[in-house]
Amino acid sequence: MPGLSTIERDAIGRCADEPMLDQVQRWAAINSGSRNLPGLATMAAIYADIFSSLPGELELRDAAPSDAIDAEGRMAPLDHGRNLHLRVRPEAAVQLLFTGHMDTVYGADHPFQKVEWREEGALNGPGVADMKGGIAVLLAALKAVEKSSLAATIGYELVINSDEEVGSPGSAPLIAEAARGKRAALTYEPAARPDGTLAGARPGSGNFSILVEGRSAHAGRNPEEGRNAIVAAADLALRLAKAAGPRLSVNPARIDGGGPNNVVPDKAVLRINMRPATPDDQRRARSHLDAAVAMVAAEHDVRIHLHGGFARPPKPLDAPAERLFGLVKGCGADLGQHIAWQPTGGVCDGNNIAACGVPVVDTMGVRGGAIHSADEYLIVDSLVERAQLSALTILRLASGDKR
Ligand SMILES: [Zn+2]
Repeated sequence: MPGLSTIERDAIGRCADEPMLDQVQRWAAINSGSRNLPGLATMAAIYADIFSSLPGELELRDAAPSDAIDAEGRMAPLDHGRNLHLRVRPEAAVQLLFTGHMDTVYGADHPFQKVEWREEGALNGPGVADMKGGIAVLLAALKAVEKSSLAATIGYELVINSDEEVGSPGSAPLIAEAARGKRAALTYEPAARPDGTLAGARPGSGNFSILVEGRSAHAGRNPEEGRNAIVAAADLALRLAKAAGPRLSVNPARIDGGGPNNVVPDKAVLRINMRPATPDDQRRARSHLDAAVAMVAAEHDVRIHLHGGFARPPKPLDAPAERLFGLVKGCGADLGQHIAWQPTGGVCDGNNIAACGVPVVDTMGVRGGAIHSADEYLIVDSLVERAQLSALTILRLASGDKR
């Protein structure tokens, strides 16, 4: 590898010594679904213990309060697990942010709980790629970097949150706080494709729960006195669906409400997901939503309460982000890895970090695939490969290398 300095070569060599495969097998055997608070507490304690091998101040921070509207239209608080936060050398000249998540999409009652070998070199298990493998990669890279003489020149904050798979409502303020003043961020979602291709631009994503309150009446005697909340919610769903286009996807996902056939329903809850391509599209989507709500409220004589928002802002690739992708690509080239990137329809904490004005590559984790399904797998060779890619990227960010 002729493009590497001695310092870089030493750090890369150290990545191969870390017990990443063993860690992934142990961690993936612990259920840490976003709603499994005891499982998340176990996972948080394990990560707090192992990440305390790095220098700096480590804390498990309580989730920020958040709430949700249930099927009956009642607002209820939502509980989330604690989030790991590590601060290392805040006085150093170059400040970076690293993030990952400890939760998975598989709840405690999901049938997918076991880690198994699928075929030669591919491990199947809940979270092996998304992202317990990524956490192992991040730890290995940071340990390798910490042993290097360049470590003194970089400081960083590291956040491993407990609620990424449900939109990070309890951890978004902590991530925004940790992103402040950072030169660049790396997040350890799995690669966008099994060949290691990174995710580039991402749309935003907003989830809305819309409570419609009408008036009940007898369906036969005095229906004219009723205000049908389901009809109003359906009208709203149709109007919003019409706003969809190539720069905005709109998915009316569910309507709850109603009761016996002879009663005009007085309550409905409409759930909607909207994905705008850019911040401008997000603004347009928001004003369309507000206008449609006002119009339906007036025409149907109902009250409408809008809950939710664009918790994941769009992440277009701007010039600083392009430069960071270029740096990672150059590191890959010096390691004999071909690194490309492509846009994706998915969202993650990288969206929120980019919205803070910090360039981010958010798929620095492992190669694998079939995430969010019982076929999720990790390509085991990618553990060392991606740890080396990260270690080299961090070292070059530390030295201000613009290659
Ligand atoms: Zn993930």
